[in-house]
Amino acid sequence: MANSRRSFITKAAVAAAMTPFASLSTFGQGYEQAIDKTPKRSAPADLKITDIKCGYIRGSVMVKVYTNQDIWGCGEGVDAIPGTYHLVKNFGARLKGKNPLNVHRLFEDIRRSGFFQGAQSGMYVAVLSAIETALWDIAGKALNLPVYQLLGGKFRDKVRVYCDTALYQRTLPVPKDFSDAALKAKSMGFNAMKFDLDQANDPNKYDAYNWTASPAELQRMYDQISAAREAVGPKIDILVDMHGRYDAVTGQAVAKLLEPLKLLWLEEPIPAENVEAYKLITESTSTPIAAGENHYLAYGFRRMLEIGRSVLSISSCPIFKKPVA
Ligand SMILES: [Mg+2]
Repeated sequence: MANSRRSFITKAAVAAAMTPFASLSTFGQGYEQAIDKTPKRSAPADLKITDIKCGYIRGSVMVKVYTNQDIWGCGEGVDAIPGTYHLVKNFGARLKGKNPLNVHRLFEDIRRSGFFQGAQSGMYVAVLSAIETALWDIAGKALNLPVYQLLGGKFRDKVRVYCDTALYQRTLPVPKDFSDAALKAKSMGFNAMKFDLDQANDPNKYDAYNWTASPAELQRMYDQISAAREAVGPKIDILVDMHGRYDAVTGQAVAKLLEPLKLLWLEEPIPAENVEAYKLITESTSTPIAAGENHYLAYGFRRMLEIGRSVLSISSCPIFKKPVA
């Protein structure tokens, strides 16, 4: 079996090398070789999914996939999770009895069978992503390897993180709240911190349904972030999130207004649906624009990539330098 698998991989690699996508020739080899060579704490070929359960922690759905051997996998889905319990049960019923190591096959079986059940985005993908993560967790445990080894290997030894200051939990935070939170995050050792600027209860809003920020609202945003910048100085990275709650005119205005404050990025100034409006904003400012938290699957990023690299899409996968010690 091992020989025939390697022979197949070799042929596939030669075939792929003849294509313009030669780098694809190595895709999956780590996984195959791991199955061949690694001492195993289970019998992978005989693994079967026996049950899937879920629980909810704050804004996440946590799924746990059980097997007929002494291993289980855990996965998390964030955003789009209210009402997902029945999707977990539905997908779980379909996965019972299947070998969890066929991660891509199981993912595609559920995705393709749901084309008319919402499989393009939202709750469906949130649950599917949580289950996919749990299946990889099982694969890593079954093969006694870190999952990153199965996905191409380790690249960095450390990943930088930022502090979410969570000032949205306060009613109408004033600039001093921003400077206090910035100093607190800095004192904790963070060299990057994030603030939210969308405040639904701002008395300066035109009204609850108007997507355009008023001049006073824009001033409030500038005062808050400039207070944070002034508190921590120029060497700390500041990130700002607007949660897609404004229109393109406001997105442009805020990005321009905050240019002197040198943000690491301005996140989701407008809703995810209008990618062309993102391009308008990115082309009108030097402030980096982040998006991606409300795009689903690789296909969700396609249009953004098509219309040019000026649209920065890093929200879902930030890659940073090491944090301050
Ligand atoms: Mg966000």
